[in-house]
Amino acid sequence: MSAAEALKAAREAGLRLGIDGDALTLEASAAPPPAVIELLSRHKAEIVALLSPVGDERSALDWLTFFGERARIAAVRGLTKNEAEARAFACCIVEWLNRNPVRSLPGRCVGCGQTEHSHDPLLPFGIESSGHAWLHSRCWDAWHAGRKAEAVAALSTFGISMRTSP
Ligand SMILES: [Zn+2]
Repeated sequence: MSAAEALKAAREAGLRLGIDGDALTLEASAAPPPAVIELLSRHKAEIVALLSPVGDERSALDWLTFFGERARIAAVRGLTKNEAEARAFACCIVEWLNRNPVRSLPGRCVGCGQTEHSHDPLLPFGIESSGHAWLHSRCWDAWHAGRKAEAVAALSTFGISMRTSP
C-alpha cells in the first residue's frame, strides 16, 4: 500500500481530507472504516506532503477537491455513484491535459517527428491559451492515447483512478 492507494481508499470511503499546518484533517458524514484510518495514519507524513501545495502546481488536495466537485455535480444530475466517478475521472483527465500542454513548433510532427508533406499536412491540436502541438492527422490517435496514459498515471499518484471494485 502506498500513500496514493491510501488516498484512494479514503476518497472511496467518502472521507474529505485536508491539511492544517502539518496535521492531516478528516471530514466524514459517517464514521470512517478503521482500516482506512489505519492506512492514513501509517502514511501520514507522505500524505501530508502530497496534499501540500508546491509552487503553482496543483497538489493532490486540489485534484481530489476538483474530482469531488465534479462527482457531486454528476450525482446531482442523477448519475449513479460509479457513473458520477467515471465522469469526474474523465474531467480530471481533460483538466490535466489542459494544465500540462505540449507545444511544438509548426513544421514537424510531434508524433512521428516527420515534416509536412503536400498530401499530409500538419494540423494544430490543443487550445489557444496553452499553445498547439502540431501533428499529422493520422498520428494524432496514437499520440493522444499516450498523453491520456500520462494523465492517468499522474492522477493515480493523487489517489484518483477508476474504482476497481463495484
Ligand atoms: Zn506524424
